[in-house]
Amino acid sequence: MSSRRSGIVDVHSHLFRQCCDFDDAFKAESARAHDGEVDLTVRWADYAASSPANTRTIVVGGKARRSGLWVEDKAVAEYVAAQPDRLIGYLSIDPTQVGWQDELRFGHQELGLRGIKLMPMYAGFDPGDPQYDPLFAYAEANGLPILVHTGTTFVSAAPIAYAQPRLLDPVAIRHPELRMVLAHLGHPFEGECIAVIRKHPHLYADVSALHYRPFQLWHSLRLAQDYGVLHKLLFGSDYPFTTVDASVAGLRAVAAVPGIPGLPPLDQDAVEELIFRDALPLLGLS
Ligand SMILES: [Zn+2]
Repeated sequence: MSSRRSGIVDVHSHLFRQCCDFDDAFKAESARAHDGEVDLTVRWADYAASSPANTRTIVVGGKARRSGLWVEDKAVAEYVAAQPDRLIGYLSIDPTQVGWQDELRFGHQELGLRGIKLMPMYAGFDPGDPQYDPLFAYAEANGLPILVHTGTTFVSAAPIAYAQPRLLDPVAIRHPELRMVLAHLGHPFEGECIAVIRKHPHLYADVSALHYRPFQLWHSLRLAQDYGVLHKLLFGSDYPFTTVDASVAGLRAVAAVPGIPGLPPLDQDAVEELIFRDALPLLGLS
């Protein structure tokens, strides 16, 4: 059932401050990918103006020293504290860096952040490597859902080998109660992402930042339909790279594509259910 009355849940939005969160190399890569420098600074008023008024939103920062991205958890905690009815904040961990265990405990126990954002490709680590098991064990034991980047990027220094959805399969096998969301449906490894989330009851994928490649999004949703995993897909925006309103419009445009003669079309009702899915109880956050 869709839950239009309680509104959209955006499981993937960022807090960035252009002043403080990126190094020069990251800014140069971003400028190359976006045809010029863009100010990625997130302001609540801009987000609110580009999403329905009852949207509830998970806000993540991001930490990846290798790629020149580092958002302090305190900044996320302050941002979400100003809109407590609308925003839920996650802490971020780069487990290749000394001190991550302290940052994990501080972000969870002192700042009250309610989930974890991981960027294995940007930080340069294999999340399936057993050396990172204490991180996942802590998240599982404390009911902290994880939003993990999967799929490609514009950042040259980020190894695509660590972007693959299959790297989360051994994590889910070792931690069956852990809630994980694989970001961006693993693009362009959507088929692999679908195979991984299908196996594990508490693994999901978000459809953020995909609508500007409509052929691939249509194909991916149609594939998810054939595998019977449309109910495991969660709405996300990846703000500030796009907005909630643009993402909803993009999903609806793809859902309206007539499809291929001889094959069932993409189920438009199922796409509406995706847009209005209440992800918070699925992630243990209600
Ligand atoms: Zn993101």
